[in-house]
Amino acid sequence: MSDDKINKSDAEWRAELTPAQYHVLRERGTERPFTGAYDDHRAPGTYACAGCGAPLFSSETKFDSHCGWPAFSGAIEAGRVARRADHSHGMRRVEVTCARCDGHLGHVFDDGPPPSGERYCINSVSLTFRSR
Ligand code: FE
Repeated sequence: MSDDKINKSDAEWRAELTPAQYHVLRERGTERPFTGAYDDHRAPGTYACAGCGAPLFSSETKFDSHCGWPAFSGAIEAGRVARRADHSHGMRRVEVTCARCDGHLGHVFDDGPPPSGERYCINSVSLTFRSR
């Protein structure tokens, strides 16, 4: 998975992404809650990275967290999503990024459903849905 790592310049990302995608994926922005296309979205399929197309999450792990963003209890496959400590805005959070293109996706919290107990809180604009 890391063999096909993507390293694009800022100018390339700006040219390829919409302004909203660029803000979230490349500037670690956050879309307003309850506004994203996939917050209340239940179709079966795969959620891929809007930056590079890598598959990241499955509808099978999507759950209704009522937090205003799409929530998943796990990634589609180990290694697809990377984590790093994020102490911005006076909070201690764990940021999640696309392992392939380093695009910012959202954060992961430890208040999710069993068995993982994890809640991946992900911006809709970071994702592209592929129906199955
Ligand atoms: Fe990506």
